[in-house]
Amino acid sequence: MKVVMIGGDAAGMSAASKVRRSLPDAQVVVFERTKETSYGACGLPYYIGGVNDDADKIRIRKPEAFLASGIDLRIAHEAVAVDAVRQTVTARNLSTGELVEESYEELVVASGAAPILPPIRNRDKEGVFALKSIADAEAIRAWAERAAVEDVVIVGAGYIGLELAESFVRLGKRVTIIEMAPRPMMVMDEDFAPLIVQTLERHNVVLRLGEAVKELDGATAVTGVVTDRGTYPAQMVVLSVGVRPNTAFLKDSGVKMLPNGAVLVDGQMRTSVPHIYAAGDCATITNKITGRQVYLPLGTNANKQGKVLGEVLVGMDSRLPGVLGTSMCRIVDLEVARTGLNEREAEEAGIPVRVVKTTAHTRPPYYPGGCELFIKLFYHAETKALLGAQLAGQEGAAARIELCALAIDAGVTCPQLAMTDLGYAPPFNYVWDPVQLAAGMVK
Ligand SMILES: Cc1cc2nc3c(=O)[nH]c(=O)nc-3n(C[C@H](O)[C@H](O)[C@H](O)COP(=O)(O)OP(=O)(O)OC[C@H]3O[C@@H](n4cnc5c(N)ncnc54)[C@H](O)[C@@H]3O)c2cc1C
Repeated sequence: MKVVMIGGDAAGMSAASKVRRSLPDAQVVVFERTKETSYGACGLPYYIGGVNDDADKIRIRKPEAFLASGIDLRIAHEAVAVDAVRQTVTARNLSTGELVEESYEELVVASGAAPILPPIRNRDKEGVFALKSIADAEAIRAWAERAAVEDVVIVGAGYIGLELAESFVRLGKRVTIIEMAPRPMMVMDEDFAPLIVQTLERHNVVLRLGEAVKELDGATAVTGVVTDRGTYPAQMVVLSVGVRPNTAFLKDSGVKMLPNGAVLVDGQMRTSVPHIYAAGDCATITNKITGRQVYLPLGTNANKQGKVLGEVLVGMDSRLPGVLGTSMCRIVDLEVARTGLNEREAEEAGIPVRVVKTTAHTRPPYYPGGCELFIKLFYHAETKALLGAQLAGQEGAAARIELCALAIDAGVTCPQLAMTDLGYAPPFNYVWDPVQLAAGMVK
């Protein structure tokens, strides 16, 4: 068998490694347009903020290791076209400019996503960045270390923008976040916005909502950001307004995609074209509850899709049952997490839904530490099965969302969850876990 992969990070290399291990005689060719493979993009904000000072630690498995395993890895090669009839991929060698053609029996598209660059006038100034790669993080950190850089503007209050705010707060910068939407972190319900806003305020981060960036000031380097409502000083700007799948090279392949370019795949990562598979941030994934194809570019999903795809390629009958969209983020000292559906999403899917919400302490009042946790649970109006959860607080939100995800996965009802035998000791918990208290409100 000959498999060609496009993209050498989480999804692509999970699949490539499985094929290499299980089918030693298979030919595995990987085109990767950068010189990096398998790195932890999720760790980049913490390198920028100095939690980790060694960028090399973010490199999980380097190109040499893949080459030594027998994978024909071609770094600095960008796939530019796929011919699904002839079963070939054309790639440009970015070192020489030369075009190479490679035939495939099976093709894996694992080309990920790239930051969306919003249409802002004078965007190409020095000191303006988007964060995706280790090279981006190194450039951001180097620029931030300049003495003249005191004011940082982050465009976009999604999870990457908010994680970056934490990094720049750690570096002692004056941070402003400008967000076009009416609230930060739109993946969370509106009730969570005050907690996020208060956290940012407590750390002197200025959050401007409902404001659109129009233009950047400065001669060669950026000096300010102009919005439709004001002007802000900035010696550094980071754009974090979302990502778009890297799938332009598939335009003549016949592969079906969502309007944003995400390749539609089934539970075995098969696309609409025979012998072409896709996985990770360039592809859709099935929502386990609604059965709908959604775009959820997360490292968790990319790794799972890559693993299942590797197994499918070696002949196993594996299938990804879908995901719940479980995600978590720390905003300086606030943990924010969600899983499953919220009320609107359940209603859109035709699922009768009810909501409970409460605030509960994570530890007994006599024990130091602990915090109030804000919890919102969404459950099926008839069966009372848990459908979704959103949590925020200074500790324990991220850990507890895992409990909720497992409960949804297992079809657990709120009354069952309320009486599940969870542990208790004052350093860790309350005698009734906050999630159980919320679940117990369901009658
Ligand atoms: C700052 C940051 C923080 C994040 N934090 C989290 C987190 O906390 N939790 C979480 O779950 N997820 C997080 N993510 C998302 C996670 O990193 C991605 O979901 C994951 O990396 C996707 O893996 P992938 O293999 O699908 O795509 P990618 O990691 O994007 O890899 C795709 C590869 O394909 C290459 N490529 C693209 N086009 C071509 C082409 N034409 N030819 C050849 N090669 C090509 C790219 O260079 C890239 O190396 C974060 C992302 C960022 C940027």
